[in-house]
Amino acid sequence: MKYNRCGKSGLLLPQISLGLWHNFGSVDSFENAESIAKEAFDKGITHFDLANNYGPVPGSAETNFGKILKNNFQGNLRDQMVISTKAGYTMWEGPYGDWGSRKYLLSSLDQSLKRMNIDYVDIFYSHRFDPETPLEETMMALDHAVRSGKALYAGISNYNTEQTREATTILKQLGTPCLIHQEKYSMFVRKAEEGLLDLLEEKGVGCIAFSPLAQGLLTDKYLNGIPENSRASNPNGHLKTDEVTEGRIQKIIALNAIAQERRQSLAQMALAWLLKDNRVSSVLIGASSVGQLNNNIDSLKNLVFSEDELLAIETILE
Ligand code: NDP
Repeated sequence: MKYNRCGKSGLLLPQISLGLWHNFGSVDSFENAESIAKEAFDKGITHFDLANNYGPVPGSAETNFGKILKNNFQGNLRDQMVISTKAGYTMWEGPYGDWGSRKYLLSSLDQSLKRMNIDYVDIFYSHRFDPETPLEETMMALDHAVRSGKALYAGISNYNTEQTREATTILKQLGTPCLIHQEKYSMFVRKAEEGLLDLLEEKGVGCIAFSPLAQGLLTDKYLNGIPENSRASNPNGHLKTDEVTEGRIQKIIALNAIAQERRQSLAQMALAWLLKDNRVSSVLIGASSVGQLNNNIDSLKNLVFSEDELLAIETILE
């Protein structure tokens, strides 16, 4: 594994990080989840990304991760891991279990720590911008989480460029610089290129790209339609069948041919394509098996693209 500096901070992140959004909930096989997490750490993936609501049921990914930590990562190993969690989407009933109030963020962080049975997380995120709550309040909650020792760093996710500019300014004034921005970014979703990445570089904030495989679309999985055992066919999966369009499949087939010429799987090429940009600190993958995880890690063997390859990829993505 290679490690990138996260923005202008002191923290190094593995080029590939593991997310627990899918495959770690109470509906999933615990043994499979545990094998994936163990293999990831053994391969140098030190960063595990969670959120309060990951499951299903919401909270169960954190509970399961707590069990995995207890079973496998006792003692000083915690000091070799970067664990993140978030609050911002609906978590519990009533007026205090959603969005960006101080009330929600800080009580949610306490609940997350309890579920994982740990004293602190490394990164605590505001999961989304709240248009109804003053941004100062949300950022002061992140600052407080860090000052109280329950988080080491603060992050934001799904904030647009302007919201990010404001949030990073407030956090800097508070004395808790924004470590990282978590944004959806892949060959198929490129909004980050419309100003956000430039801003993050200017502000010295790292960028971690989530759903870098477009939830599995940018792999060889959907070349012939929707197979069983795929996120699109899983009733608990967030990839909807109507997102697997004929147009997308044609692009996947064409991209797969370029990947083969590069002697990479399409998943490997899709990850390498993001990591060639040094503003991307880490790509945040999901995996439903140890095999997928290892396939994805092997993307690091070839991160270089020729001009011709880049042009051919752009032509397909147009
Ligand atoms: P990906 O785009 O990496 O999709 C992962 C899925 O793709 C896997 O579960 C698997 O699905 C399939 N896959 C992965 N590798 C391969 C392979 N080599 N060959 C074939 N199929 C493969 O990421 P996710 O959408 O899972 O998101 C990753 C993480 O990002 C999340 O866990 C979470 O931590 C974070 N995230 C953050 C959000 C935010 O709002 N901040 C929102 C969403 C995600 P299958 O086998 O089941 O088809």
